[in-house]
Amino acid sequence: MNYDVKGNLQKVLGNLPDGVRLVAISKYHPNEYIQAAYDEGQRIFGESHEQELRQKHTSLPQDIQWHFIGHLQTNKVKYIAPYVTMIEAVDSLKLLREIDKQAERCGRTIDVLLELHIAEEETKYGLTPDACRQLLADGEWRQLQHVRICGLMMMASFVDDEAQIRSEFRQGHELFDELKARYFADAPYFRERSWGMSHDYPIAVEEGSTMVRVGTTIFGPRVY
Ligand SMILES: *Cc1c(COP(=O)(O)O)cnc(C)c1O
Repeated sequence: MNYDVKGNLQKVLGNLPDGVRLVAISKYHPNEYIQAAYDEGQRIFGESHEQELRQKHTSLPQDIQWHFIGHLQTNKVKYIAPYVTMIEAVDSLKLLREIDKQAERCGRTIDVLLELHIAEEETKYGLTPDACRQLLADGEWRQLQHVRICGLMMMASFVDDEAQIRSEFRQGHELFDELKARYFADAPYFRERSWGMSHDYPIAVEEGSTMVRVGTTIFGPRVY
């Protein structure tokens, strides 16, 4: 292993206050690296491709909590539904319905986050704040008994301007507070704000992240 996974992991953990959890983003990294982090006590890992996740889930320790962090096609939900701990990037009612259906078939309830799109970059993924409000106002989600909406996930713009990044996380936090008050005031599980990656997680933590998703800083550059 040419990367000090254990040392880097401890450094990141040392920067996280109590109550902020680390999702170690292991996509494109070999099992050996994941095992090294696991041996240090890390249990939550994030992947963004269904097949890669399937292989890793099969060959690595069974008590790993896998988060699916990428764009998920509805036809792939059935493959991860039996074991995934959280699906972080739900950006349509259609996907939410499919997760509910597959979770029911497995006799489980799957935790999900709604993916918020605030960053200025063009992307087809993520819900604008208004789309997010609409999805919840529509109310169909209340009938979906096998998914549990636990909060929001977002990525800030990939820029050097710290003020802009901070302002985007702040908008995410404000929307979280609004939705919490309107729909989830009695739902203690609605508590996650998944923001912060390698380049911006210290800012994210200052802006109220409860869950950071850090890959490169722990495992090094990805080899695609
Ligand atoms: C890859 C990825 C990350 C981790 O990014 P790093 O810059 O390697 O820390 C976090 N979140 C999402 C959604 C990702 O796709």
